[in-house]
Amino acid sequence: GFDSESLYEQDRLHVWHPLTQHQDYSHNHPLIITHGLESTVYDINGQSYLDAAAGLWCVNVGYGRQQLIDAALRQMQQLAYYPLTQSHPAAIELATRLASYIPSTPHIYFSNSGSEANETAFKMVRQYWQQQGFPHKTKIISRFRGYHGSTLGALSATGQPERKRNYGPMAPDFMQVSAPYCYRCPFHMQYPSCQIQCAEDFERRIQIEGADTVAAIIVEPIIAGGGVLIPPPGYFSRLAHIAKDYNVKLIVDEVVTGFGRTGSLFGHELYNIKPDIVTMAKGLASGYMPIGATAVSDEIFHTFLGATDSGRHLRQVNTFGGHPVACAAAIANLNIIEEDQLVKQAQSKGEYLKQLLVDQLQNVPWVGDIRVQGLLAGIEIVTEPETKTPASDAFMRLLGRHLIKQGILAGKATDVETWHNNILIIAPPLVIHGDELEQIVTGVAHTIRQVGQAPPIHV
Ligand code: PMP
Repeated sequence: GFDSESLYEQDRLHVWHPLTQHQDYSHNHPLIITHGLESTVYDINGQSYLDAAAGLWCVNVGYGRQQLIDAALRQMQQLAYYPLTQSHPAAIELATRLASYIPSTPHIYFSNSGSEANETAFKMVRQYWQQQGFPHKTKIISRFRGYHGSTLGALSATGQPERKRNYGPMAPDFMQVSAPYCYRCPFHMQYPSCQIQCAEDFERRIQIEGADTVAAIIVEPIIAGGGVLIPPPGYFSRLAHIAKDYNVKLIVDEVVTGFGRTGSLFGHELYNIKPDIVTMAKGLASGYMPIGATAVSDEIFHTFLGATDSGRHLRQVNTFGGHPVACAAAIANLNIIEEDQLVKQAQSKGEYLKQLLVDQLQNVPWVGDIRVQGLLAGIEIVTEPETKTPASDAFMRLLGRHLIKQGILAGKATDVETWHNNILIIAPPLVIHGDELEQIVTGVAHTIRQVGQAPPIHV
């Protein structure tokens, strides 16, 4: 057994948590999670929670998958570690497998996280353009509300100003254009008469900067952490055209949307586009091991071939990139996704989740918008639907706390314009059952009403 009081005390003293550090654990403290099975995690006091956030949108195959654990254990016994300065069978098998999924980006560079996968992509496109004789093509254009990681390059590409505050200066040559956010259109227009101005914004920006200075565009297929922003039809095909017309590489960040989350294996499949680079992490090994990957086209890869003294090689090494145990876990994870048909399941369960959310939430006065694609859902919480005023931080904090009391863990997104965290995110493991989805949605509906009727006093 655990002595929960002393663990809380040691946590308070020594564990520096991301995003929130509580001062007073007697009022509020992190859950200490001890184990998990399928879509449920358990804390130190034996309380169970339906994980409607799948960890951090990682644990696609659910907790406690023995097949995956066995594969990782076998690999650890055989060869715990070797770097990819040489090679090993697990990395070869995983790279070959990923290449078979996205044949247009068949060259895989392994790292350990989404941030690293994106940093690698930025370095690759800059070096690529230099090797092609375009030394000034260095700029990376992303979108407001997009998230691409915590390291300084990936943070510079991130379009959430509140995450950058105090950490400047950001890396030069990173810039953002408007997000495809129809509920709060940055142009105050409506689809389709808007003619997708948010996509046109890329062209305008490239023209202003000069195409000979722009290396790449980086986008998430659906902006996930920035609020589950699903682009309108036609957005991505326009984007792909613009990239092609101006000779700009297209990097698609599949860190959240990859491996079934959206009801297709990769999010960009929804739009029939062929990116030059695809980055992935989280769901690649379902969080059982940390692993990231950058998948690259023939065209880019071929400019990196040649003798080391030609200087054309990628001058980067990640000590743990392609870690054998992480690769073995990823392969077993992909096997489970295929055997359980989790992509198809994410699609049909996503439809069911959407129906439940619409049925139970659309008439709740504090619900402004419901956006669902596969098992990735965002619920925009507002003070009243007419004004679309975002719910306060205090409201959202209370909502989160009440949900936890009901045994439901959900995610939260940040609203850039208001700096409120007013979007509730539901992204459970893809193995979630129908009755569990019902439990989550009923709990969310009940909790929003409860908090809405007794709104928190602002302090
Ligand atoms: N890209 C996206 C779209 C993400 O959501 C995240 C993490 N939330 C990252 C990149 C960064 O991944 P990591 O935290 O593994 O560095």
